[in-house]
Amino acid sequence: MKRKITREFIVMTLIAIAAAAVISTFIFYRVIREELLIDFKNCAKLIESIDSSSGDIPEIPGLRITIIEESGKALYDSSADTGQMGNHRERPEVAQAFSEGEGQSTRKSETVGKNVFYYACLMKNGQVVRIARDVSSVQAFITGSLPLLIILCVLLFSACALLANVLTTSFLRPILKIARNPDANVSDGGYEEMKPIVRMIKEQHELTMRDSERRQEFTTNVSHELKTPLAAISGYAELISNGMGDEDDMRRYGRDIQRNAERLLNLINDVIRLSELDTAEEAVRGFVPVDLAAEAEKSCEMLTFQAEKRNVTIAFEGSPGEKCIVNGDAQMLSELIYNLCDNAVRYNNPGGSVTVSVRPSGNEVLLTVKDTGIGIPVKDQERIFERFYRVDKSRSRETGGTGLGLAIVKHIVEQHPGALLSMNSIVGKGTEITVSFPKMKGE
Ligand code: ADP
Repeated sequence: MKRKITREFIVMTLIAIAAAAVISTFIFYRVIREELLIDFKNCAKLIESIDSSSGDIPEIPGLRITIIEESGKALYDSSADTGQMGNHRERPEVAQAFSEGEGQSTRKSETVGKNVFYYACLMKNGQVVRIARDVSSVQAFITGSLPLLIILCVLLFSACALLANVLTTSFLRPILKIARNPDANVSDGGYEEMKPIVRMIKEQHELTMRDSERRQEFTTNVSHELKTPLAAISGYAELISNGMGDEDDMRRYGRDIQRNAERLLNLINDVIRLSELDTAEEAVRGFVPVDLAAEAEKSCEMLTFQAEKRNVTIAFEGSPGEKCIVNGDAQMLSELIYNLCDNAVRYNNPGGSVTVSVRPSGNEVLLTVKDTGIGIPVKDQERIFERFYRVDKSRSRETGGTGLGLAIVKHIVEQHPGALLSMNSIVGKGTEITVSFPKMKGE
């Protein structure tokens, strides 16, 4: 980037220098010509006054003076033999002087064979006085100044290249500094426009860092969670292989191995699901109309057996006659409802109940899972949606929890634009979790 900016800067400088050199040479040439013209006019006036008093026309070094009569014949010439000179009537400056009173031109002289600047002026006596000067000397002067001009251009160019480098470095310094060390206290380098860029890079870096820390923590937690059931399985397997215990013990070991293996499977399934949800970009694309009430009813049915085992009743309350269709991913929504209902059963008390309801409310569809269970302390209510956060670890494990169910729920809610999650829980009384979805248009 730095090289590109410097290169562009240098190209711009080169163009500017070349343009300045051409323009100044042109202006220089014009100024010299104007000066010459003033001199020629003064000279012409002088000659007219001398000519009218019939005095001798003086020789002026560097100037050629010619007097031409109306027919075009040269009467006097300070540097050529008038006898050898052709008719001058049609010379552009002479013709112009006869018709307009004054004339000028620059061309190669037929008589002297050099580049000459001519000025002609009609005198009161009807003759034209023409003054000429060889301008090859002016052109030679300009050509002679060329090396100096080139040296000047090179110096100017080097100064600009250096300046371009210094400016680019100072302009890029904050960005380079923050790229090397994002934690450094970087100023905007005096450029107001740099402030949002520096801020953006810092924020981006902080996000990346936080994300990487979160991933690191998650990996550590997963490894830790995997270790416990694996250690248990290994322990029971060792007891069995050593023939420790009687037949009843063997059966118990077998059940414990099965329970821990199930725990492992649940955990692996949840980890895989979370990573799938993490990478599922723009789930919206696969969205279809989903009948939330039907999904909720299915989840209730699936959990009836488990609820009965815990002496908990689970019931679904729909809104007969009212459609509760939302735009979403059917599998994700079914998972969301199942996870909420599963928790409501697992963290319930014997004899308790779970009520699942789906109803329309204005432009929304509300899914509510309400239980009469143990409740969640206020201080934990924010955190239970974090991965592996559990209020009571042993109860979670005993009931086959992985600590990832609500993290998956939160993720699914985030994947559904407009969906909102809210919770109301009182310890000892129960929990009510509501997810509101925007109602599908036309439903
Ligand atoms: P787990 O697999 O441990 O249930 P979750 O992510 O589903 O993990 O829930 C996190 C924690 O939130 C649980 O360990 C539990 O302490 C608490 N929790 C979730 N749902 C309820 C509920 N309905 N009643 C009481 N506590 C709950």
